[in-house]
Amino acid sequence: MRYSKLLAPTLKETPADAVVVSHRLMLRAGYVRKLSAGIYTYLPLAQRTFTKVANIIREELNRAGAQELTMPAVQPAELWQESGRWEQYGAELLRFKDRKGNDFVIGPTHEEVITALVRDEVKSYKQLPLNLYQIQTKFRDEVRPRFGIMRGREFVMKDAYSFHVDDADAHKEYDNMFRAYTRIFSRCGLRFRAVEADTGSIGGNRSHEFQVLADSGEDAIVFTVDAAGKPTYAANVELAPVAAAEHNEKPELPCSVVDTPKKKTIEEVAAFLGVPPARVLKGVLFDVDGKPVLAMCLGDRDINEVKLKKVLGAKDVRLLLDEEAKAAGLKPGFVGPLNLPAAQASHPSVMLAVDHGVKGLAGLVCGANAWDKHHVQVAWGRDLIVADDCLADLTTAKAGDRCGKNSDVYQAARGIEVGHVFFLGTKYSTAMKATFQGEDKAEHPYVMGCYGIGVTRTAAAAIEQNHDDDGIRWPAPIAPFHVSLVALGVDKETMDLAEKLEGALEGLGIEVLFDDRDERPGVKFKDNDLIGNPVRLAVGGKSLKEGVVEVKLRSETKEQLRKVPINEAVHVVAALVNGLLADARKAADDAAV
Ligand code: ATP
Ligand code: MG
Repeated sequence: MRYSKLLAPTLKETPADAVVVSHRLMLRAGYVRKLSAGIYTYLPLAQRTFTKVANIIREELNRAGAQELTMPAVQPAELWQESGRWEQYGAELLRFKDRKGNDFVIGPTHEEVITALVRDEVKSYKQLPLNLYQIQTKFRDEVRPRFGIMRGREFVMKDAYSFHVDDADAHKEYDNMFRAYTRIFSRCGLRFRAVEADTGSIGGNRSHEFQVLADSGEDAIVFTVDAAGKPTYAANVELAPVAAAEHNEKPELPCSVVDTPKKKTIEEVAAFLGVPPARVLKGVLFDVDGKPVLAMCLGDRDINEVKLKKVLGAKDVRLLLDEEAKAAGLKPGFVGPLNLPAAQASHPSVMLAVDHGVKGLAGLVCGANAWDKHHVQVAWGRDLIVADDCLADLTTAKAGDRCGKNSDVYQAARGIEVGHVFFLGTKYSTAMKATFQGEDKAEHPYVMGCYGIGVTRTAAAAIEQNHDDDGIRWPAPIAPFHVSLVALGVDKETMDLAEKLEGALEGLGIEVLFDDRDERPGVKFKDNDLIGNPVRLAVGGKSLKEGVVEVKLRSETKEQLRKVPINEAVHVVAALVNGLLADARKAADDAAV
């Protein structure tokens, strides 16, 4: 491909509204252009990368036994009414009417359509299991579209749906998809973690998010590794179990009440009493399915609503408003576990939930349930007596905590969710009366799984993880081109040689972006660095007289430049490209569990 013909309009200035690197670089290097909020045109460079990501996904899913199809993007409202999501989905669902006044949506996801298809076409257990996928444009009217194509309103997703006779078979497919995803992201050349994720309102089931590790990621994750550095467990911080601490402190002084005028926050109380924040109990008041709950943890930690909700088996958890707390006889800012107000006609009793990190400690400070007063020298077991069923893992995990699964110490990282595997059970098949005839001749709802990958987001995440001050540093398997071939002049000799090299490389299946523009070498190097193809081959100028060309990886410095005799150039470049591609394939094989 000739650079002079390529539509890749580069920008000198960094666009003001682009806050993350991938968005900035994709605009600057001419990969995307915005049409409307969260809606982008993918220019040829981006399209090449997306095609590569999509093809890796296709190869691995086909290999894992899934079948590709394409469903309509426009879906009738009736299906969404059947599943119940017409009401539940909210404003992210783009709804419209056709000329006859019928309601439609633009698909944000396709559980309804696929369930209806399989309901109509698959009748017997003999036709199961089935895993069907598509790669298609989705629309979600995100509240805050941002970060360019990372959280767009229109984006490309691979969505797969599997159908099974029972839970066991669906779990088998879940594991199969988990392995396929591991291979897909390894083959894309990405560093990632599969993390346990919350199953949200579906509840009680299995879900893993595949997170590309990048400091700019929206998600906080923790993980443990074995001696070889291989991850042994990873989870979203909201979900990651924190092991119970084993304290056994002996109280030294009796518990008493002290004045703490206007000292409400942990920091204020700690500073006023001269104790570390970790010794002050943090009390957070929640409304849990309409009842007040006081959740407590040490002052240097945070109560996690996801865990609280799970532990209490609750439907709805929200913070209690100050007025509501006062109506329940509580004193916001000074609440504590020792003398909670008893139930009265006007309100139920306040339930206590204590994080297990508090167990066994003495010398604690907590609110005294009176304005401007705190208890000090509170000791576990003497003053603070908590029933076993009120004690649980309630805080958000952080680096340095011990993992509740394997007792190893957590490390923290930030991630970008690029994929999601989900055990759905019979949520959709039951709601939509989608059944098959089992071996027992009875009708059963299909047991389902769903599996998504953001194709466009994966490309953006790759940039977040792989860039420097000069631009993108694509992992070779998803770079738009393997090689940037830079002609250092446009004289006949240079251009002839460059063309010859281009032809020879392309003959070996290597994709070349041939920078044939009449520009200074400095400009060409800059633009090609910005675009980020993994190998640079520079031809012409002084080196031509010496009979050599210059070869450098995008990830290498100027000092690492190789001077290669012209007749070895094709061989050296091909070996570099193939080496990079082979590394990613090897990573996929190694990662396969
Ligand atoms: P998020 O929590 O980021 O909103 P989600 O849980 O809504 O993601 P899923 O419904 O599981 O996402 O969608 C599957 C995949 O589609 C995600 O893993 C992600 O890679 C991609 N995706 C979801 N929303 C967007 C978006 N607005 N822009 C680009 N990709 C997206
Ligand atoms: Mg979302």
